[in-house]
Amino acid sequence: MSKGTLFDKVWDLHTVGILPSGQTQLLIGLHLIHEVTSPQAFAMLRERGLKVLFPERTVATVDHIVPTENQARPFADRLAEEMIQALEQNCQEYGIRFYNVGSGNQGIVHVIAPEQGWTQPGMTVACGDSHTSTHGAFGAIAFGIGTSQVRDVLASQTLALSKLKVRKIEVNGRLRPGVYAKDVILHIIRTLGVKGGVGYAYEFGGTTFDAMSMEERMTVCNMAIEGGARCGYVNPDVVTFEYLQGRDLAPKGADWDKAVAWWTSLSSDADAVYDDVVTFDAANISPTVTWGITPGQGIAVDEVVPFADALDAAERPIAEEAYRYMDLTPGSLLRGTKVDVCFIGSCTNGRLSDLREAAKFAKGRQVAAGVKAFVVPGSEQVKQQAEAEGLHKVFEEAGFEWREPGCSMCLAMNPDKLQGRQLSASSSNRNFKGRQGSANGRTLLMSPAMVVAAAVTGEVSDVRDLL
Ligand code: SF4
Repeated sequence: MSKGTLFDKVWDLHTVGILPSGQTQLLIGLHLIHEVTSPQAFAMLRERGLKVLFPERTVATVDHIVPTENQARPFADRLAEEMIQALEQNCQEYGIRFYNVGSGNQGIVHVIAPEQGWTQPGMTVACGDSHTSTHGAFGAIAFGIGTSQVRDVLASQTLALSKLKVRKIEVNGRLRPGVYAKDVILHIIRTLGVKGGVGYAYEFGGTTFDAMSMEERMTVCNMAIEGGARCGYVNPDVVTFEYLQGRDLAPKGADWDKAVAWWTSLSSDADAVYDDVVTFDAANISPTVTWGITPGQGIAVDEVVPFADALDAAERPIAEEAYRYMDLTPGSLLRGTKVDVCFIGSCTNGRLSDLREAAKFAKGRQVAAGVKAFVVPGSEQVKQQAEAEGLHKVFEEAGFEWREPGCSMCLAMNPDKLQGRQLSASSSNRNFKGRQGSANGRTLLMSPAMVVAAAVTGEVSDVRDLL
């Protein structure tokens, strides 16, 4: 059993009690809600005549269903309009802060909470979205939850959870040019598998993570869930504190110094005991692309699609399914495969640093003929900052569309959808069948820089060739 880790400390500090089931009743410090998983939860509260216990610890935004081309109200999609209206009404009725479209602070839930300073080290965070693990980048313990748990947190500010084991994932060394945080997490998941983290919290440590910005750490923690881990985190350090200082919700004045001392004390101890430790060398990580239908089916861009008999026996059936669905031949190179759509955005890679990096490669180049390429900032703040730097001009001049903030084609619960068998180069986090809005559409996950490389060449390409 792990001991002396940040996970243990935060868990113990938030334990309200042990339930008859043996689970822990855990206090949730920050509850983030959005339009998709909250309406039924509010309906259940009403049925039972319950209130939201801590509205001041509940924050709402709208992200999944918002259109990214025209956000004028009412939305053209009647269902989307009904969903945003329901959230508006629920937030008003229960006194919850709501970052609505046009507020200047709307955006993807996992982008806006960190950028406003809601997410802080040592917190427990919950949200009805799988990629809540993102907030672990701050040294928070953050859980994606289902609708009935959203109800539980609204009503009681607590969750019933079983304690996790802790695996330390240590990556050391400098990333090579053209290799990004996205490649690191895709490499980890391809190595440990999409179920490798089941029952674990992943602690990301080592010199590679030490050297990452907060936005890069968020990219890594965002996809911890894709490796099966219930949550992922990085111990808070000077990078964390520099990011947080001055943000709207961050402590100020003398409270800031106290907070930094407290946050520092929560980091895993030097002699912490882990249930498991896995080590990687950053020099062995290449620009990585998924070839299949799970985020674990990834290869370095210069590798061939693996043969089924080279994989673990348990992996072979899903590999066979992936060859058929993706229309790929084992032993062939993914590089050179024609792409139809290139998408930069999502809570994995829709932050300012992602757009800056992508723009470096887009500058002075042109999107290939026949390719639809678009950039969707993760939040209104990201959009505003990117425009202040002129990034939108760089993208537009290169032939990318520049859109309004939202989840867009990550999940396609809005007008941004693949058509038919289209193949998408995407900076998002899931390549499941039909994930991007077409029942037989296909998705290749990669870093934003690699998406630009695909967009300007019209095919899966190695971004290092553009350096
Ligand atoms: S961008 Fe994708 S993963 Fe992130 S919150 Fe939106 S739909 Fe979920």
